[in-house]
Amino acid sequence: MKCPRCTIYDLKTVKIEDLEVDQCEECLGIWCDIGEMKALVEQTNLGDLKITGKPGGLRTIVPLSCPRDGKTLVMIKDLKAADIEIDICPTCAGRWLDGGELDRLRQKGLLANVKNFFVTYLIS
Ligand SMILES: [Zn+2]
Ligand SMILES: [Zn+2]
Repeated sequence: MKCPRCTIYDLKTVKIEDLEVDQCEECLGIWCDIGEMKALVEQTNLGDLKITGKPGGLRTIVPLSCPRDGKTLVMIKDLKAADIEIDICPTCAGRWLDGGELDRLRQKGLLANVKNFFVTYLIS
């Protein structure tokens, strides 16, 4: 699968215990399936996943298309976390997090009640 943000780079599969997510090594964006995002926020050890660092790559293409089926991703925002925009595929419900967003999500998720937080975010 190609990175939906950079479009020319391939996503690399990263295994974290029983989870498998795809990450772009250039912009550090992460593609995950429904349900996996919650696990990513709650997981303490993220293995080889790069959640900090400066995103590079080609971060200019909008709107984003699903790396699986090419559908235009829908951006979800929450006023309580205005610096986080989650792009969700209306067809396969896959989610795209730009580089750095998982880190911010984890910080907010741990501070807030994780359950309520995800009720807000994960309804598509
Ligand atoms: Zn990328
Ligand atoms: Zn899709």
